[in-house]
Amino acid sequence: MRISEALSADPRAVEGLPRLTPLLLRWYRDNARDLPWRRDPTPYRVWVSEIILQQTRVEAVRERYIQFLGALPDVSSLAEAPQDVLLKLWEGMGYYSRVRNLQKAARILCRDYGGELPADYEALRKLPGLGEYTAGAVASIAFGLPCPAADGNVYRVLSRILCSRADITQTAVKKAFRECAVSMLPGDCPGDFNQALMDLGATVCLPNREPLCGECPVGEQCLARREGCAAALPVKAAKKPRRVEERTVLIILGRGEVLLRQIEEGGLLAGLYAPPHPLGCLDRDEARCAVEDMGGDCREVLPLREAKHLFTHVEWRMRGYLVRCEPFEAPGVWADAEALTGRYAVPSAFRAFTRELPGWLTGEK
Ligand code: SF4
Repeated sequence: MRISEALSADPRAVEGLPRLTPLLLRWYRDNARDLPWRRDPTPYRVWVSEIILQQTRVEAVRERYIQFLGALPDVSSLAEAPQDVLLKLWEGMGYYSRVRNLQKAARILCRDYGGELPADYEALRKLPGLGEYTAGAVASIAFGLPCPAADGNVYRVLSRILCSRADITQTAVKKAFRECAVSMLPGDCPGDFNQALMDLGATVCLPNREPLCGECPVGEQCLARREGCAAALPVKAAKKPRRVEERTVLIILGRGEVLLRQIEEGGLLAGLYAPPHPLGCLDRDEARCAVEDMGGDCREVLPLREAKHLFTHVEWRMRGYLVRCEPFEAPGVWADAEALTGRYAVPSAFRAFTRELPGWLTGEK
């Protein structure tokens, strides 16, 4: 199928896309965001930044990226990092499979590539955690290879420029947009071009709202702007609703320490530490019984706020209790405020219950 058919777009507009490349490059040279990984774009730094940035806003991770690079400055230090250190560095950023894949890939790089990333798109693509987008970003930005890096930002910008109402969740549509991006790649600076599209999508052609078309370098050529429908694009099929799971979070305190359990391998949060969080919405008596079943002798059980957390496919609705008792023998670890802050990585899903924990722990001593 022709690209224009897959995108329900005007064929002349699709053919005209390469003429926009110089405008985008000129705009990028004047408006590129000052991001820490752009100052010294080694393959390792670009790779780590692209993985950290998946599903996350730049502003939320700028400092975390600097911390991560400070602790693990190269492929071999990443490959050798103990799991607890790795997960602590990633704490709060979610999607922990990303950091596990980073380490798996680093180990492969040490074993097969002398600890360096290969300057080869296909070889990058085979590494754990590097999909088409990330492999394209690393290949083009770090190695200057002519590869597109098309993600949701780029689909949005291109669907607006072409006024395409094709559903960007469809594989054939994404493929057609990637081909559009390939047709626009300049031979001499594909990395700059990819970053120009990323920056335009992040700062001007904004998602879920009216874009800033008056500041856009391709405003005159943009068909959605001309037709006044930019904010309604791209078209995206509604996602399946998340499965709802009820959980009871038990913050069990004993003499200035909190009971944490390492989450078993295989689940969403494997390897991280969390307060016990049995399934179901327990009332106060049931929460007391649950702690007594673990071996705890409860002095006090206080209800905490309710909270929810969204994972990709599941929504947790949580009710919490603060339980005071003497420390008791139980699977897991008892962590004081210092260990909680500096050693154990606790998923952000529990933040509503753990935010005040360091203060409670210090007050208990
Ligand atoms: Fe996006 Fe507006 Fe630029 Fe079109 S003119 S690409 S809608 S910012």
